[in-house]
Amino acid sequence: MAGSGTPCASCKLLRRRCTPECVFAPYFPAEDARRFATVHRVFGASNVSRMLQEVAPAQRADAVSSLVYEASARVRDPVYGCVAAISSLQHQVSQLQMQLALAHAEILLCVQQPQHGHPPAAAAALQEQQQQQHILQNAHHQLMLQEACLQQDSMWT
Ligand code: ZN
Repeated sequence: MAGSGTPCASCKLLRRRCTPECVFAPYFPAEDARRFATVHRVFGASNVSRMLQEVAPAQRADAVSSLVYEASARVRDPVYGCVAAISSLQHQVSQLQMQLALAHAEILLCVQQPQHGHPPAAAAALQEQQQQQHILQNAHHQLMLQEACLQQDSMWT
């Protein structure tokens, strides 16, 4: 910890004295040198320091998590970085929303034309809608997982 003699991972890498005021110390403990190394490589220590100081202390841990996630993704994929994951999930969500809208439209048609005597069609449409909702829930679950990975920062390590 800062001031206790052991410099944080940042100060260790930058070969400087870790003071009790060190902005990195609470988020980059000495035991995990790689986190800071990755962030430093992509964003640069002075930029990271500036970004942290611009954020309220209560939000700095989240800011560090997202910087580490973004930097790790950038190292892994120099072209798209974490945009690859985001755009793939956005595409998936918009496709599922379209499918859900179609299923809703089909159900409306079935409800509006009961005189044709095709109750199984209505049941099938309902089942389809339930399936779409299940898929949508799965996509949402995947997004939650991504966020969990971001929190734990374990996806790329
Ligand atoms: Zn430090």
